[in-house]
Amino acid sequence: MKAHDGMYIDGTWRPAAGRDVIEVVNPADEQVIGQVPAGDARDVDTAVRAARAALPGWAATPPAERAARLAALRDLLVARAGEIAETVTAELGSPPKLSQTVHVGAPIAVAGSYAELAAAHAFEERVGNSTVYQEPIGVVGAITPWNYPLHQIVAKVAPALAAGCTVVLKPAEDTPLTAQAFAEAVHEAGVPAGVFNLVTGLGPVAGQALAEHPGVDLVSFTGSTAVGRKIAAIAGAAVKKVALELGGKSANVILPSADLARAVNVGVANVMSNSGQTCSAWTRMLVHRDQYDEAVALAAAAAAKYGDRIGPLVNAKQQARVRGYIEKGVAEGARLVAGGPEAPRERGYFVSPTVFADVTPGMTIAQEEIFGPVLSILAYQDEEDALRIANGTVYGLAGAVWAGDEAEAVAFARRMETGQVDINGGRFNPLAPFGGYKQSGVGRELGVHGLAEYLQTKSLQF
Ligand code: NAD
Repeated sequence: MKAHDGMYIDGTWRPAAGRDVIEVVNPADEQVIGQVPAGDARDVDTAVRAARAALPGWAATPPAERAARLAALRDLLVARAGEIAETVTAELGSPPKLSQTVHVGAPIAVAGSYAELAAAHAFEERVGNSTVYQEPIGVVGAITPWNYPLHQIVAKVAPALAAGCTVVLKPAEDTPLTAQAFAEAVHEAGVPAGVFNLVTGLGPVAGQALAEHPGVDLVSFTGSTAVGRKIAAIAGAAVKKVALELGGKSANVILPSADLARAVNVGVANVMSNSGQTCSAWTRMLVHRDQYDEAVALAAAAAAKYGDRIGPLVNAKQQARVRGYIEKGVAEGARLVAGGPEAPRERGYFVSPTVFADVTPGMTIAQEEIFGPVLSILAYQDEEDALRIANGTVYGLAGAVWAGDEAEAVAFARRMETGQVDINGGRFNPLAPFGGYKQSGVGRELGVHGLAEYLQTKSLQF
């Protein structure tokens, strides 16, 4: 696995200011596969200065030229798809097919969508006697998590570049090699020096320095609600814009008229995919009490089929955390019908696909984000009860509704306090806005709504 021993700043790979390094571990076999520099506030400062210096030129670059660079970037991600997918598998542990189709496939679609949006977007409009301009917000500090390492980067960098902003990226410490591969593609795509910069490092060191840097105009963060709260406080004190994509505890609501077997099977697959490390995963399945036993049996059978096909969790800490939640579920009286807290293999950070029945809305496993392959099945009495349970957490990122009639599902979805809902298994749309209600975040990513996060408006009156 290729690892750079420098930071990508101002168009070149240059040595870090300090000597600290981060070891990258393959979570499937616990072997060290490379190391990258652990940057500090000095590296962040150099990168922010480079981004500031590049800002006027990139902001003034015609949108069609910015679009051409993004199209070149998309093409390079396509050309390097195999190599990047192998890198994601090596540092995240995801099965190779998932790495190819989702971890690399989705960001290619998103990069392509921003190449098109940059070319087509109306950055200027007439409103009565005014002209309103949409101008880049400035230097973006982007901080990303490891769960979809390339997607989380592209979902920030592509719209930022389309808008005319410049970027300093601080990727997750568990998956820095994917970020380095992305920086290589940006370089080859002919994006001018300083427009995109990469500083690898620890969250509380490099991440915090980036959030605090006065030269950053917008902090765009994806990660846990706990860290998001800190970043929002830092940005608030500096009256700086902030975009937050945070945690979730999404409900998969199966109404009595739905195709129960399909809804349960797709629901289990949704939670087990990426070993449950998906912020929008439908980790709470809500089933009518009359169909409850049948749904539990279907879900247990579906989870058992996953067996060895599921990848590990990203690191030992995450594995311990998830096993702890499973133990807590048992202690609070939920009934295990698949999996359990035991580690299924001696090596690697694996957790068994786990399903809990008899979960009640107040239990810890029904309230807190677990971020592992753990599904909770809850019974509801009627639709009002289902809605109360679905909306009964601090989160509101995603969800699903299943019903025999689409209009019935839509009516229920409209009452859910959540940012996106899949109707009867609706597919991922790279143009649909993605983001949270309540404590799941502030702002939206993807499509034109994602572009808007990186723009500010100026009006001229005539
Ligand atoms: P995390 O919050 O620990 O880390 C996310 C990023 O923040 C990493 O790059 C990390 O280095 C950095 N960071 C950590 N402490 C920091 C600090 N004090 N200052 C600045 N930066 C800091 O989250 P994680 O464990 O990497 O990811 C899992 C979490 O991310 C889950 O809660 C999940 O729901 C959430 N997530 C949300 C979305 C979304 O779109 N809403 C998407 C993916 C993941």
